[in-house]
Amino acid sequence: MSYAKKLASYTKILIKEILDLIYKRKCINCACQINDGILCKTCLKLVQNLSPFAQGVINNYPVYSAFYYEGVIKKLIQSLKFKHNKAISYYLATFLADYIQQILNNKTNELNLEGAIIIPVLTHTKNYNKRGYDNVLLIAENLAKITGYKLNSTALRKTKYTKPMYKLKRKQRLHHIENSFELNVDFNINNPVILLDDIVTTGSTLEYLTSLFKEKGVYNLICLTVSKTKKF
Ligand SMILES: [Zn+2]
Repeated sequence: MSYAKKLASYTKILIKEILDLIYKRKCINCACQINDGILCKTCLKLVQNLSPFAQGVINNYPVYSAFYYEGVIKKLIQSLKFKHNKAISYYLATFLADYIQQILNNKTNELNLEGAIIIPVLTHTKNYNKRGYDNVLLIAENLAKITGYKLNSTALRKTKYTKPMYKLKRKQRLHHIENSFELNVDFNINNPVILLDDIVTTGSTLEYLTSLFKEKGVYNLICLTVSKTKKF
């Protein structure tokens, strides 16, 4: 990104923050005025997480998704991703922390996350440069602060830029993402790993990523996503 473009992007963010200070906050979902937070009380009530069970299993690893990718949650994820609304990452992390607690309280999951390491599925540097931040990394940082689990953002690295895959079929997706990540085992593989992403669509990205962990002998791993589409 050129210096001029970067400056323009930062100026845009700054102006938005100043405007937020001058004008009262608005609920991200219904745009009514609020005093704090990001959602009004009515919209906050619409945020209901899914039951604390694994919604799927990929390569023998359980996949937990806190919400469906729809309604208020979809708006929050998109606003964080595309509208520079970074504060949302904190709220999504609090929802996730609450969901993790429910998963742990549910004894049928037989889950132990003591000493867990959060490994975010980062987007490529190309996206990072465009936005100036990585949305999943922001959620991971907040989740680590809230839960006390360690954050590791160096283990999983995206090495190849991949175009958005929403139009591709499952087999095409798998082919598309192969060799696009590198796993550098710079953590103790005996500790539980929380592989964190914002959305699981068909599961092909997680299928590929978990195979990397499996190859390296990481057996204690859960996939955790903020949301899932109904395809998954
Ligand atoms: Zn509202």
